[in-house]
Amino acid sequence: MSETILNKNTFPFAPSNAKGLIISGPCSAETEEQVLQTAQRLKATSKVDLLRAGIWKPRTRPGMFEGIGVAALPWLLQAKRITGLPTTVEIATAKQVEEALKFDVDVLWIGARTTANPFSVQEVADALKGVDIPVLIKNPTNPDIDLWQGAVERIEKAGIKNVGLIHRGFSSYGNNEYRNAPMWHLAIEMKSRNADKIFICDPSHMGGKRELLFGLSQKSIDLGYDGLMIESHITPDFAWSDAAQQITPEVLNEILDRLIWRKENAAINEHQTLQNLRIQIDQLDDELFQVLSKRMQIADAIGAYKKENNITIFQAVRWNDILTKAYAKNSKLGLSDEFIKKYLEAVHLESINHQNKVMNN
Ligand code: PEP
Ligand code: MN
Repeated sequence: MSETILNKNTFPFAPSNAKGLIISGPCSAETEEQVLQTAQRLKATSKVDLLRAGIWKPRTRPGMFEGIGVAALPWLLQAKRITGLPTTVEIATAKQVEEALKFDVDVLWIGARTTANPFSVQEVADALKGVDIPVLIKNPTNPDIDLWQGAVERIEKAGIKNVGLIHRGFSSYGNNEYRNAPMWHLAIEMKSRNADKIFICDPSHMGGKRELLFGLSQKSIDLGYDGLMIESHITPDFAWSDAAQQITPEVLNEILDRLIWRKENAAINEHQTLQNLRIQIDQLDDELFQVLSKRMQIADAIGAYKKENNITIFQAVRWNDILTKAYAKNSKLGLSDEFIKKYLEAVHLESINHQNKVMNN
């Protein structure tokens, strides 16, 4: 990560108050009237910092509405003139970068499908050489944060100083609760790798449904995100793309009113109660590691025994037995089955590695 590029505090549209950066507007620009009316109604909320609209829409399958294209750019410029709201659009090719710049777009964003393709990101990066514009990069569709980081590196290498990140969730097989699974742990890893960059949540594409917007937004704020990108539309039910997840500017206003923004700053360390709780957590983590280390010493002894007696390391019956017993006991302790399974799998794998070493020594 480049130390010279510090944009968390210099991102030009970051709000100065305690609340986060709010980006809103339709999934797609559809008509001039729709863009202008959405912009005016968003402006009336006084809570939106940046107006978004999809001009070119990369759709998963052909035959769906793929955006108005260049013809919609003057509508966005007009919306900016009327409301004073700076604008942002998604770009995926060099040509689109060029067109967006012609129409004075203020911030560019790279969509999830583009981030997943290094050739496309490189093409965009090359088109941005010598241009001074902030670029927001959405996570790739697949849960691969190195690919996301790679896109950041390509754009920064092109000389872009203001790079921000948008977490919009990841495609995942068999997930039906969300349109794109949040996988918060991956985003948190990305956020800590890029502590200097503005980090935004897009609950619209994550949830895919209006009902999930508030909860996902609040969760991201609780995790210290710097802002939100939420799709809005004058008549959401009739939107040409992503109808189920869009809301009117007025509903957006209500959601934003209900959200509680939390601060992540040095002063928080002065809160004695929090400090004390953190000390306890640190202490318990220490103890957990000590216990795990003891557990691995026993695994070593088991490995030695199995080696001597020519017994296989993995035994399915034993493993199933461990899981069943753990579920039965731990549900009373307030731990989810999912966590118990993940925890035991990780411990079991480490134990197998220990035994493997002993056996092959
Ligand atoms: C969008 O913001 O409208 C969009 C297409 O998003 P994503 O790239 O996250 O799918
Ligand atoms: Mn959309």
